[in-house]
Amino acid sequence: MIDILSLTKNELGDILAEYGLEDYRKRQIFSFVYKHFVDDIDKITTLKKDVRDLLKDRFFISTGRCTKTTYAEDGTVKYLLKLQDSNKIESVFIPMKNDRNTICVSTQVGCRMGCRFCATGKMGLVRNLDTSEIVLQVRYIMKKHSLKNANIVYMGMGEPLDNYDNVVKSVKILIDEDGINISRRKITLSTCGITPAIEKLKEDLPYINLALSLHSAADEKRSYLMPVNRKYPLKEVMESLKTFPMPRRKRITFEYVMIENVNDTKEDRKALLRLLSTYKSKLNIIPLNKHNLMNSGLNPTSNEKIEEFAGYLRNKGMFVTVRNSKGSSIKAACGMLATKV
Ligand code: SF4
Repeated sequence: MIDILSLTKNELGDILAEYGLEDYRKRQIFSFVYKHFVDDIDKITTLKKDVRDLLKDRFFISTGRCTKTTYAEDGTVKYLLKLQDSNKIESVFIPMKNDRNTICVSTQVGCRMGCRFCATGKMGLVRNLDTSEIVLQVRYIMKKHSLKNANIVYMGMGEPLDNYDNVVKSVKILIDEDGINISRRKITLSTCGITPAIEKLKEDLPYINLALSLHSAADEKRSYLMPVNRKYPLKEVMESLKTFPMPRRKRITFEYVMIENVNDTKEDRKALLRLLSTYKSKLNIIPLNKHNLMNSGLNPTSNEKIEEFAGYLRNKGMFVTVRNSKGSSIKAACGMLATKV
């Protein structure tokens, strides 16, 4: 049996053709699965009963099995979804004003990148999610909250570019005009900086938003915080980003989790200025979340110092935001998603 959520529209069309079904059927199915969010092939009422019976022998539509929902005071909702093999992942709905609701999806159970400040990294990699498991998170939350549109950020559990094929395919399904039809401009892939995958992405998915987990502009410090920097040094990653085709008027986001006495010094801000001065960039400073799973010895920088750091860079002409970490009270904020250690 094939999960429809694992297929692009053309892949679905190819299988339908094997049954002698017309090509336009793939559009009808996509529309019912992704616009009307049906979970049952029998509810695709534009198909005749004999066609539906034929499809039911070969296809199913997976649904998320939510085992726990946690609500934060700021409106953020975290869903714990149980997968077929009983592994669990977390997906987050972040309500925003002006139709800018955001869905944060996971791409792996755990992560093998081992960033020092991240709860997911402490889990190690259990396995990659398959395409349907990524798509179902979006579909589940959109249906639950009756959303017609949303920003999708690949910033949940896992490193998206370490599960490259499934992530790219999931984006292709989400942007399909006969399906959910999310604009590329509203999709952000966040990466710790796997250079060969960024290069490949230029061909496979140009004009989506990229965010780099930067966390230090100095190589040695970055390697301390993010072991991946030893394999793919910052210089290489930055070179690769220079030629990434971004959507018009969009900036590359650089994420910067701010940690007391580690990356919040005067030298750090000067290094950032030097590194980012030639990029059309947005620096997103995120106060470190103290997660009870972490014994990293790292501490958050005070709000006062964060503001001073950000103010200095703004005065030098940089575009800087300090993210108020939505959902931190329910461990749904950056670096806090983890289902087991
Ligand atoms: S920050 Fe991202 S890449 Fe690093 S360990 Fe956590 S999930 Fe993995």
